[in-house]
Amino acid sequence: MKNDIKTTLVTKEELEQRVKAIGAQITEDYRGKELVLVGVLKGAFMFLGDLARSIEIPLEVDFMAVSSYGHSTVSSGVVKILKDLDLEIEGKDILIVEDIIDTGLTLSYLVNNLKSRGASSVKICTLLDKPERRKVQVEIKYKGFDIPDEFVVGYGIDYAEKYRNYPEVAVLKEETYNK
Ligand code: 5GP
Ligand code: MG
Ligand code: MG
Repeated sequence: MKNDIKTTLVTKEELEQRVKAIGAQITEDYRGKELVLVGVLKGAFMFLGDLARSIEIPLEVDFMAVSSYGHSTVSSGVVKILKDLDLEIEGKDILIVEDIIDTGLTLSYLVNNLKSRGASSVKICTLLDKPERRKVQVEIKYKGFDIPDEFVVGYGIDYAEKYRNYPEVAVLKEETYNK
């Protein structure tokens, strides 16, 4: 796996530090609230796992799956709910946990969708942001790192379902895409 990596953008240590800091901030901001972390599958699973462990107030966890890139590396702009929430979120404080904000299309759709179900608040926590690529404006409450417009893998994020278990955020060598 390591042989397929060209460069590392965010190291294990940087991830650990930043995720802890965001968790501490969420702990303060959501004290006394009805926090629900909504992870966007599958890319956010590892971030959500680490983030949840660094939040020191009671919370609920749920997941949604939406269609996005599929196996291609180009955004389709089409958002479809493949797996919906199990929990009722009326009156709850929702924090959407996402791996990457790219065009912003997925999250702007999700925020509106969850608000329409009567949530008290709907905010966004993303590990990575590619600000250059934005097509629609979305308000990000918590952000891990800005990254350049490159296709990344690792720490939950895949290329054709592989590399999610790579412990850093990295860019693959070109030849890996043609394997
Ligand atoms: P958008 O903001 O364009 O609607 O969609 C963002 C989603 O596309 C992210 O949550 C992520 O799932 C996927 N995505 C964006 N950039 C990358 C990338 O560099 N690598 C991978 N594997 N997925 C990406
Ligand atoms: Mg995602
Ligand atoms: Mg994917």
